[in-house]
Amino acid sequence: MFDVIVLGAGASGLMLAAQAAKRGRSVLVLEKANKVGKKILMSGGGKCNFTNLDVEHHHYLCHNPHFVKSALSRYTQWDFIGLVCEHGIEYEERKHGQLFTINGSKDILNMLLKECEQPNITIKTQAEVKAVKQMPQGFEITTQQETLTCTSFVVASGGLSIPTLGGSGIGYDIAKQFGHHIFPTRAGLVPFTFSDQFKEITTRLSGNALNVTLSNQHTAFNEAMLFTHRGLSGPSALQLSNYWQAGTAININFFPSTDINLVLKQKKVQQPKVLLRTIVNEMTTKAITVELQNLIWQSEAETPIGQLSDQRIEQIATQLHEFSIKPSGTEGYRTAEVTLGGVDTKEVSSKTMESTRVKGLFFIGEVLDVTGHLGGYNFQWAWASAVAAAEYV
Ligand SMILES: Cc1cc2nc3c(=O)[nH]c(=O)nc-3n(C[C@H](O)[C@H](O)[C@H](O)COP(=O)(O)OP(=O)(O)OC[C@H]3O[C@@H](n4cnc5c(N)ncnc54)[C@H](O)[C@@H]3O)c2cc1C
Repeated sequence: MFDVIVLGAGASGLMLAAQAAKRGRSVLVLEKANKVGKKILMSGGGKCNFTNLDVEHHHYLCHNPHFVKSALSRYTQWDFIGLVCEHGIEYEERKHGQLFTINGSKDILNMLLKECEQPNITIKTQAEVKAVKQMPQGFEITTQQETLTCTSFVVASGGLSIPTLGGSGIGYDIAKQFGHHIFPTRAGLVPFTFSDQFKEITTRLSGNALNVTLSNQHTAFNEAMLFTHRGLSGPSALQLSNYWQAGTAININFFPSTDINLVLKQKKVQQPKVLLRTIVNEMTTKAITVELQNLIWQSEAETPIGQLSDQRIEQIATQLHEFSIKPSGTEGYRTAEVTLGGVDTKEVSSKTMESTRVKGLFFIGEVLDVTGHLGGYNFQWAWASAVAAAEYV
């Protein structure tokens, strides 16, 4: 009988194993894939954005917004940075306080595996958990090969995103089996797709990027937006996808740092013969200008600005600052970095991550209804929730 069995050798599962074993617990980690930590290796474009210098509860989406505070304050970004430094891992700060490894994500995975080099930890790969049963003294866990028992069972299964990297719904099934409520899940940090005229535009502009403010009725993100042959990606699109509901519109401010109305009216006086596209072209690529012209001022394409009424200039400026479009969807779990929704945190202790319904059952990481913004927040949640649970398993 193990003290602790962990379902999943991903970010949170490995962190929990290392920390719980330091408290003398015997830990078995069961991983269905042939290798551990596949998502860590793929993360941050292969460089793993492992945390952020600025971590606050408002960087997370959760139906119970205060839930994350306790764990995040007990194991902070500084604690994880300390661990990274102890292991001599080189890292760099990028925009918005995001920390990335310099030599690759494998450094973070190797660090976790080194932390797991303790005699009381066993990690088994190709060991898919199939069933869990509550016993008088703990749990009986069945994999395709064997049946094992433990006192504490930790669900660190992650979410549904990227099935080829291990995404699975088993964590939600186990939670439901024990009477937990699950918030509906959907893909997060994921590119938008389009099926109308706008798709043809994004296809033609594929590879072009610009700094925009992307917003909807809930929030706004001022970051780069990338046109792809399927739709819109880049940090601003990924961030907004977390706050987007199917069927709703999003707004693009193509020039957030310029007052277009003012610029156009000044040009009307100073250079009345100039065309609108010449002015817009000074602020972005030619390809983007051509598409904006087709979308917004096609009938005035050859009209000098001096001949446009102030009212028409205001309309064009408003369109460039508040261009509204309706995505047909997102690329879904196939490319999503995270899964929104999941195990309702109202039935999980924010201090210990233990189920308030079933003693000895713990949920950590992404399986919970906690989703971070882009920028290292999801890993910081994986580390912090794992350390919180490790103190109590
Ligand atoms: C492409 C990509 C890039 C990302 N980049 C970043 C980044 O740079 N920064 C950041 O903060 N976040 C990033 N994320 C998100 C981050 O990877 C996750 O939020 C984090 O890994 C969640 O940790 P976890 O332990 O909950 O789940 P995971 O790390 O997903 O681990 C879950 C593990 O459980 C295993 N498992 C599932 N079902 C079973 C079963 N039945 N039996 C046994 N094992 C099972 C899986 O194989 C997997 O190994 C990225 C995600 C993706 C997909």
